[in-house]
Amino acid sequence: MKTTDRELLDYLNRLFPEPGCALHFSTPFECLCAVMLSAQTTDASVNKVTPALFAAYPDAFALAKAEVSDIEPLIRSIGLYHAKAKNLIGLSKALVERHNGEVPEDKEAMRKLPGVGVKTSNVVGAICFGIPAIAVDTHVARVSKRLGYAKESDTPEQIEAKLEKIFPEEEHIRLHYQIILFGREVCHAVRPECERCELTARCRHYKKSSSIKGKKS
Ligand code: SF4
Repeated sequence: MKTTDRELLDYLNRLFPEPGCALHFSTPFECLCAVMLSAQTTDASVNKVTPALFAAYPDAFALAKAEVSDIEPLIRSIGLYHAKAKNLIGLSKALVERHNGEVPEDKEAMRKLPGVGVKTSNVVGAICFGIPAIAVDTHVARVSKRLGYAKESDTPEQIEAKLEKIFPEEEHIRLHYQIILFGREVCHAVRPECERCELTARCRHYKKSSSIKGKKS
């Protein structure tokens, strides 16, 4: 790990000393459902719908018996609710049929479940089973590219592989949350708060936008 990589960890540790998952859940099954529901919406909006959903359907056995029309009204406010309702039921049926209703502790097995991709399996594996991973969402991808850890054309899988190679395994889960928080609170997609960021000296985005501003003035 280079000095600049260590500096990034130190900076994020100062900014976000206690990072963690913002989704609310109490079992691996609820965690998996919440992470699936969080696709293309905010964790806060997922947290508003999951209490009623989990009260009505506390496990995979209960949810596997539901109809899409039962689930839709409970998650309507989060968008893509029809597809997400179908996925939740398909996922629950597969958990019942293949894993006795439990979430498998193996990421490859998780990825064979309907609607579960690399990002979801990485997040659930890290949160529920402590499996090291740097799941790449929109924030992790943007920050990684701006800081030069990834190319603009890199896929989430390529970014994940690069980050996991650079940073020690014991930092992966924590770093994943910290980069997400940094992307949400400082390094926004539009108008990042560079004036309060300590990474300007090494940031491609900052250098590029500064040189554009310099040419205009
Ligand atoms: S300098 Fe700006 S764009 Fe670069 S990492 Fe910091 S906040 Fe993000």
